[in-house]
Amino acid sequence: MAYVISNDCIACGSCIGECPVEAISEGEIYKIDPDVCTDCGTCADTCPSEAIHPA
Ligand code: SF4
Ligand code: SF4
Repeated sequence: MAYVISNDCIACGSCIGECPVEAISEGEIYKIDPDVCTDCGTCADTCPSEAIHPA
């Protein structure tokens, strides 16, 4: 299990600093590395676009 970022991402950058395991990387749409994500959900709470959801 891992959280995923959808096309609703506006690349605001809010989530990247909130991940305790640094699973999120920058881009036109930010991405979560499913091998690193621990499914904690912290990033989803910070997203203003509600672009982050459990897979
Ligand atoms: Fe990081 Fe937790 Fe978001 Fe996974 S769910 S990317 S571990 S903040
Ligand atoms: Fe994209 Fe949401 Fe992360 Fe902002 S907080 S970069 S909109 S996924």
